[in-house]
Amino acid sequence: MAKMAGRACHRMYSAADTEEGHYKQRLSEALVASLKTAPHEFSVVYQPQYQLATGEMAGLEALLRWHHPEFGAVSPADFVPVAEQRGHIHELTEHLVRCILADLPKAAEGLPSGLRLAINISARQISDSRLQQLLDVLFARIRQICWLPEIEITETHLMHLSAECLARLRDFGDQGVSVAVDDFGTGYSSLAYLHTLPVHVLKIDRQFIKRLGGVGTDSRIVSAILGIADALELEVVAEGIENGAQYRMLNDLKCHRGQGFLMARPATWDAIKLLFFDTCQ
Ligand code: C2E
Ligand code: MG
Ligand code: MG
Ligand code: MG
Repeated sequence: MAKMAGRACHRMYSAADTEEGHYKQRLSEALVASLKTAPHEFSVVYQPQYQLATGEMAGLEALLRWHHPEFGAVSPADFVPVAEQRGHIHELTEHLVRCILADLPKAAEGLPSGLRLAINISARQISDSRLQQLLDVLFARIRQICWLPEIEITETHLMHLSAECLARLRDFGDQGVSVAVDDFGTGYSSLAYLHTLPVHVLKIDRQFIKRLGGVGTDSRIVSAILGIADALELEVVAEGIENGAQYRMLNDLKCHRGQGFLMARPATWDAIKLLFFDTCQ
């Protein structure tokens, strides 16, 4: 009986596994085809970040979107890893940067100066010289409109960077680009290691923000991260703020910046400007 159940389980697992593998394969083929022939399916949205103490807009994070005629809206959490595995992350980032460059002139009108504009970069791209040229152009244009460039790298990737990539990150810092550790708290970087990294910002992962402000509130991890940041003189951004209680707790804990659906969802420039205009009334 147990053997049969075991076999049944095994069959179920394999079927789901094959289905998932099949989906990924189709997604991967569609991604490659769309990048080649239908780049307009990819777009960029921006999610505002705020200074928690004052409620002022402090920056924006650029996030990729892909709308495929058959698959519909595909999450970047699904297609970015596929692009990385299939060796197409460069094309995707190139497209992202081109979209941002095209958007920047209109973005600058009607929004304050001094905003940070953050883009997510895959760790394996950091030492890519083609990307370097493109990023240099982007950073120069961001500075031209008196904004500040920021790059986000996930904590898990950051821990495995080569000496060459770390040197590149240091160069970014020297050029005034701030480096943020994305999804902080989900990797295992030690205090000692973090201290040696050329980073300026910690972005607390959404899973820790979820535990704030409700039944069974647990602020210990967020407090610990803020303590680490304070000791290392790093700025802290909380991601995924969805309710007022979370916002208030983070502000009480002296978290600097925050982003989340409570304040604004990722949106186009036109929508962001309307939002900015409304909150300034
Ligand atoms: P991330 O960089 O940690 O981005 C934050 C994600 O949280 C975004 O999902 C955003 O829409 C979502 N989010 C923001 N506020 C809230 C909230 O209050 N509640 C909830 N439930 N979610 C919130 P998105 O846009 O689906 O992106 C997912 C991930 O895909 C990103 O995580 C990032 O790792 C990756 N990604 C997105 N765009 C790019 C890109 O241009 N390049 C690379 N390499 N990765 C990207
Ligand atoms: Mg990010
Ligand atoms: Mg994040
Ligand atoms: Mg995250």
